Amino acid sequence: MTGSTGVLFVVATPIGNLGDLGARARDTLAAVDAVAAEDTRRTGQLLSRLGLSVPLISLHEHNETARLGPLLARLETGQSIALVSDAGTPLISDPGYLLVRAALQAGHRVSPVPGACAAVAALSVAGLPTDRFVFEGFLPARQAARRARLEALAAETRTLVVYEAIHRLAETLADMASCLGAQREVTLARELTKLHEQVRHGVLGELAASVAAGEVPARGECVLVVAGAAPAAAEAYEARRVLALVAAQLPPRDAVKLAAAITGERPNRLRRWLQGAPGDDPETVEE
Ligand code: SAM
Repeated sequence: MTGSTGVLFVVATPIGNLGDLGARARDTLAAVDAVAAEDTRRTGQLLSRLGLSVPLISLHEHNETARLGPLLARLETGQSIALVSDAGTPLISDPGYLLVRAALQAGHRVSPVPGACAAVAALSVAGLPTDRFVFEGFLPARQAARRARLEALAAETRTLVVYEAIHRLAETLADMASCLGAQREVTLARELTKLHEQVRHGVLGELAASVAAGEVPARGECVLVVAGAAPAAAEAYEARRVLALVAAQLPPRDAVKLAAAITGERPNRLRRWLQGAPGDDPETVEE
């Protein structure tokens, strides 16, 4: 595939089922001069299952910067390169952004060979609105940072898509239930396209309890798709967030007054939030 200037192909690979590798992905992998792969051993296995032998160059989050020069030099000499990650679409919570950006800036053609992506696959079976959604990738691993991120997302009305490691699933669901509301709808999509595929729909409080009780196998890979806040509740979440910020600086009475002036929320409700009154969930819309 050598020409005047090389092409960088961004090639999606399966997320668990080899049958999902498209004909164009196979043809591209067969035709390029080299494959830049997140894990050369894993991609080597994929290539050999496809009956292909192509030079592999490792490109992962720890060496991506160092690899840019040599990979751009290859493109410069007219070689074409396929960028792949361990599974799914490169750059989606995977390495490759720096290479794609550098290739574009150097004037090379960058062409997608689309295929599987766990976020989109989960969204397509979640039964939640898909006209607009927010992909959050992985939430922070540390609980304080994770909760802060979730608080910031509480008023988001678009469907949320989150990748999570299975060993953190129980604690993340518990944090989601407390920050986003126990009654929010959620879909857990586990082991998609694999033998033990599981898609489970419920609400955050119930799913968190079920996972904590060990009712979901603690194995495999998973995506969480969470319903956005109801538009009316979004305002209440925002009011609660503003209240928390001003209450950190002002005495309670002044905090309630200022938060009410900023957000238009009723002072009585703000006061109850400040007092931590049980059961006053922002999802419950007050008339
Ligand atoms: N680039 C990949 C993509 O396009 O989906 C994602 C890579 S990211 C490092 C890996 C995460 O994707 C996993 O932790 C999990 O959240 C999700 N994932 C990957 N394969 C999956 C599958 N078969 N079922 C459910 N989630 C999956």
